[in-house]
Amino acid sequence: MRVLLGSGGIGTEERRSKFRDLISDHFRDSENVVFIPLATHDHEKRTVRLKESLGPIGTKFHGLNLDRGFDQILAADGVYVGGGNSFLLNRDLHKYGFIDALRDVVKRGAPYLGVSAGSNVACPTMMTTNDMPIVMPQSYEALGIVPFQINPHYYPGKITFFSEGDSNDHFGESRQQRISEYHQHESIPVLGLWEGSYVEWDGNRGRLIGRASAFFYDSEPLEFKDGAIFDGNLVLE
Ligand code: ASP
Repeated sequence: MRVLLGSGGIGTEERRSKFRDLISDHFRDSENVVFIPLATHDHEKRTVRLKESLGPIGTKFHGLNLDRGFDQILAADGVYVGGGNSFLLNRDLHKYGFIDALRDVVKRGAPYLGVSAGSNVACPTMMTTNDMPIVMPQSYEALGIVPFQINPHYYPGKITFFSEGDSNDHFGESRQQRISEYHQHESIPVLGLWEGSYVEWDGNRGRLIGRASAFFYDSEPLEFKDGAIFDGNLVLE
């Protein structure tokens, strides 16, 4: 399997250029990549924006057409699931019956790229998203093409914000607190993926590009550094 999952947060030119390099390498042997914009409301606009942002390699990406989406997915030699709202995305993946088809093509070896919401739905469930439940999916179950959970856009500690020139403490919950609430009910480990970071997964082993924090239901969190190699239980090699 060839899976690449990103957090997003590519707000600088350096990060955007790294993202473009990763995408062109990831889909180097693909000619017909299906782009799934279901996490956003305006599918067409999102697809046009994606193709424009990719430059010359944008021609191999084809936006999902809901009327023939099933055949399009099965014929694809690559899949890119973009970000947006994870509830909307997971609802529509179930509603249009795309879950099994996507799992099949990825298990057959088609490279999968997920960014943000697209990373959430690559996990066993979408339960570690940061998103608001703006629609009701029929299930939280997701693609399960990686065996661990991801919390994208992860940051450590609490928020400090600026207002009228002063820095202020927000006093809200930290991400770590939210993930520990998840672990009061579930035992699957969670990778808190920092902005601008990626996970490569080959079906057995993961490799981190960037930074991440790993959370477990029965042990202390671990910091993963760039290049860390780990198994499906987030145990470091
Ligand atoms: N809304 C995020 C995205 O950009 C997903 C998340 O934060 O869980 O797709």
